[in-house]
Amino acid sequence: MEAQKRGTLFVFSGPSGVGKGTLNAKLFAEFGEQMAFSVSATTRAPREGEIDGTHYFFISMQEFENRIANNDFLEHAQFAGNRYGTPKSYVMSLLEMGKNVLLEIEVQGAMQVMERMPECVSIFVLPPSFEELERRLRGRGTETEEKILRRLETARGELAYADKYQYQIVNGGDLEAAYQELRSIYLKETGRV
Ligand code: ADP
Ligand code: 5GP
Repeated sequence: MEAQKRGTLFVFSGPSGVGKGTLNAKLFAEFGEQMAFSVSATTRAPREGEIDGTHYFFISMQEFENRIANNDFLEHAQFAGNRYGTPKSYVMSLLEMGKNVLLEIEVQGAMQVMERMPECVSIFVLPPSFEELERRLRGRGTETEEKILRRLETARGELAYADKYQYQIVNGGDLEAAYQELRSIYLKETGRV
């Protein structure tokens, strides 16, 4: 029997509100059976509708620190006052099983993954303008004003990392056009074209 082809690891970043979740959902709708989405651990509180174990593993600061001490994370970082980490053994076993794994993570964590797993494919999503980013973040209606301002401040620093990624996609007015770019990167990098 032919050996299972190892999956491709995608690192997907961009400022909060740029449309990462929206684009990923479209990729999963089309290629979900070949893919797996890594579920991160976070110390942030769940948003309305978020399910523990599906959107994130919502854990305490103590538990987060225990996991760092156990070397359980492929990467971990602090973002807007909360901590986030990618479970290492889960991601590795999915790749071994031949799944293409997508990590939707912020820039500090992404830099760690690029260093540890240089074969990964890195994609950064850019907004058409800072004003539009602010509009989307507010329009989503999931954060308080204070948290929105904090995320916008963080976004300015994150945008400076865009050129460290192999691919940049501008998610402008046309969501479908941005998705087509993501889709062709996916097909090219997984060797399906
Ligand atoms: P992220 O996951 O990057 O934080 P989301 O996917 O939650 O961002 O998108 C933030 C908001 O912007 C959502 O309300 C989403 O529907 C909207 N959005 C996403 N892409 C576009 C686009 N191309 N044009 C207009 N609005 C968009
Ligand atoms: P949110 O609180 O909006 O769900 O996520 C905030 C930021 O943290 C987003 O940029 C998201 O991509 C990132 N993030 C989510 N999970 C992880 C993770 O495991 N590691 C890192 N480094 N960032 C993460």
